Order: sequence, then C-alpha cells, then structure tokens
Amino acid sequence: MRGTVFVVSGPSGAGKTTILKEVLGRIPNLEFSISYTTRPKRPNEENGKDYFFISEEQFKKLINANAFLEWAEVHGYLYGTSKAFVLERIKKGVNLILDIDVQGALSVMREMPEVATIFICPPSFEELKKRLLSRGTETERDLKRRLEDARWEFSHIVDFQYLVVNRNLKESVKQLEAVIIAEQLRLDRIKDHMGLEEMPKGV
Ligand code: 5GP
Repeated sequence: MRGTVFVVSGPSGAGKTTILKEVLGRIPNLEFSISYTTRPKRPNEENGKDYFFISEEQFKKLINANAFLEWAEVHGYLYGTSKAFVLERIKKGVNLILDIDVQGALSVMREMPEVATIFICPPSFEELKKRLLSRGTETERDLKRRLEDARWEFSHIVDFQYLVVNRNLKESVKQLEAVIIAEQLRLDRIKDHMGLEEMPKGV
C-alpha cells in the first residue's frame, strides 16, 4: 500500500519542529522528508539529518534538473523537497512528513491532491514574536522578515485540512498524532488496496 504524505506548515517559531520530532519518535513507519536549503546551518543542526545544506548554485542546478517536487524562497533562502525521495518512500509504503512553508504546501496540494495537510500555529502573533526572540537563532533582520512572512502564512490557514494551535507541547503532539492515525484509517485511502474478500462484513 502506498504511503501517505503529511504536509505540515505554519509560521517559523510556532513550534513545528519540536512537535514533529516528538511525533516521529512515537509513530512507526513514519519518516521525515529531509529538504535541501541554501540557509546557513545553525550550530545545533546536522547536514543530512535536519537539511541538506547546499549552495545557491547547487540548488539552481537541482531546479534545472527538475529534481524538486516543490521549492520556494522562504525568508530570503531557497528550500526544496526532493521529488525522487518522496516518490521512492511512498512507493515503499512509508508515510512521510513534509515540514514545508505555505507556498510549498500549496504547490504540493496541486501536484498531489491526496496529501493530508496540517497547519500548526502559535496561540497569537505576540506569542510567536516572543518565541522567535527567545529562540535567538535569527539576526534582527531575519527575525523581522519571519514575522512579516507569518502574517501572509496565517492568511492561508483555510487552505489546510487540520489546524493545531500550539498552546502546550504535550497537547499538540497528541493532536498531530491523532490526525496521522486517523488519516491512515480512512477507507478512501485503503479501499483501493483491499480485495473485497478482505473487507470486513457490512462494509
Ligand atoms: P527554518 O529555516 O526555520 O528551518 O525553516 C524556515 C521555513 O522553511 C519553515 O517554515 C519550514 O517549514 C520551511 N521549509 C523547510 N523545508 C522546506 C522545503 O523543502 N520547502 C519549502 N517550501 N519550505 C521548507
């Protein structure tokens, strides 16, 4: 059975990465799609684990080779999802999480309408500002840009299927986990892979 793609988006600083790391450790057969980016590596990040950190020149070569399922300029840097990686994993039946921005999410929805989409947001804009400031990983210029971009991202909440408001990490992890489990139980996803004889009686 083909794996399901879960597209998770939301403004930078909403707590997406922390929630995803937790959920990935809890659900079997669920993997993270490692994106390519031209953003400089943060001290706590690892090449090939968090991202593939590449130059702008290398990134442009990949665009020309049609290697991306989607790519976008986010907060001044380029980010992209490998098409080959996604197709290979879902063909093997692996469920995949794509942590991508709203522009990328909208492109994937057009390319693969069967994806499940989740928007993760902070309880308020003020809280987002506070979280980004306390994270301390951005320069003042990058921080300002991320906040401006967040306003545009908020305006696209309605394009998503699920909304997780991250007030509390434990609760948000539980909610995302519930979405992922429920999506895997949807008959419209599994019926094509089931013979009639395998269907429970009454279905
Ligand atoms: P960060 O630089 O904080 O790791 O990520 C910045 C933003 O880029 C986040 O919203 C993240 O979801 C998004 N992002 C990460 N990888 C990709 C990708 O492959 N494609 C797109 N479109 N956005 C991405």
